[in-house]
Amino acid sequence: MNTWEDELRSELHRRHAASLYRRRALRTAGTVAEPIVGTAPTINFCSNDYLGLSTHPAVVDALKAGVDHYGVGAGASHLVTGYCEAHARLEQEVAAFAGRERALVFASGYLANLGAVTALVGRNDLVVADRLNHASLNDAALLSRARLRRYAHADATAAECCLAGGPGRRKLVLTDGVFSMDGDIAPLKGLAQVCSRHAAVLVVDDAHGIGVLGTGGRGTLEALGLSPAEVPVLIGTFGKAFGACGAFVAGSEALIESLIQAARTYIYTTAPPPALAEAVRAALQVICHEPWRRERLSTNISRFREGARARDLPLGTSPTPIQPLMLGTPERALAVSASLADRGFMVSAIRPPTVPQGTARLRITLSAAHSASQIDQLLDALEELL
Ligand SMILES: *Cc1c(COP(=O)(O)O)cnc(C)c1O
Repeated sequence: MNTWEDELRSELHRRHAASLYRRRALRTAGTVAEPIVGTAPTINFCSNDYLGLSTHPAVVDALKAGVDHYGVGAGASHLVTGYCEAHARLEQEVAAFAGRERALVFASGYLANLGAVTALVGRNDLVVADRLNHASLNDAALLSRARLRRYAHADATAAECCLAGGPGRRKLVLTDGVFSMDGDIAPLKGLAQVCSRHAAVLVVDDAHGIGVLGTGGRGTLEALGLSPAEVPVLIGTFGKAFGACGAFVAGSEALIESLIQAARTYIYTTAPPPALAEAVRAALQVICHEPWRRERLSTNISRFREGARARDLPLGTSPTPIQPLMLGTPERALAVSASLADRGFMVSAIRPPTVPQGTARLRITLSAAHSASQIDQLLDALEELL
């Protein structure tokens, strides 16, 4: 008789045989940009630390000072006794940065998406979502029990079809700002117009845009010129360009007060460490006051794209730090990723179900922390392997 663990083992075996088994590369020392994996120094081309802030001295010092001041844990959820001055200041500073009345800090982007969507819609509502949205937005929609309709990627007209005549007391349109696996940018102007025609609320998860896009680092909305009225709910993470951990939802007073009452992933979880909020506040200052990091990142993106084009690599059209190289099968993506690892480069192979069948890829991400020569070395290695 098969036990449940036999079933797990045969499922694992199937994954393995299909080149879909997931493994973690163990970092034994070093920083995000230059981790030691096993005993070998490597160059990381798959982190989301776009501005190099995870090792920025001001951010590191703020975390240490925060620990001295507050201790390690928050001790309880925000609504019990976990809410500290550091969280309150961070909320105010993020709200000002995003040009919103209020902001609310969550423990992660995944939790922010789950909490915001489930607080805003329920059984009798409609959620319309881009097909290539991040898993956390999809999970949020499912958990909300609202009716879910998914539209063709980055297609505002298709989104409108989903809204037109759709059921629902309240209608939300959910999209990534920058798509996490393709690096392209959502058609926010078009989506905002569609939302206004159908009295729908546009929710943008700008995990990869915040800190990176726009001259002030305010993200995809700044880059495309969208107002708070067009995007009433803005979500961002502190785990990417901020180099830390945590996330925020920004919007009106009514939105944020409602989330405090009803967002279950805000209410029923321990508040993030206040020292971490101090580190994020310091990272926000760097984002505002060291624009050269975005300029350097942009130079690195151009250098990579021009080099890839010159070497005839299977480059897409992404203008952001996320640069996928399409390889098709999971076998091929894994093999190239492993050969790159042998040469000292960390580049993750992204396979289904994270991306659609037939679109396994290398997801290369660039950072302001990369040097021109590191980028050239990666390009040379890719040319040799592909
Ligand atoms: C990474 C990511 C998240 C999750 O954010 P975390 O803070 O890592 O939980 C949510 N949405 C998108 C689009 C992301 O890329």
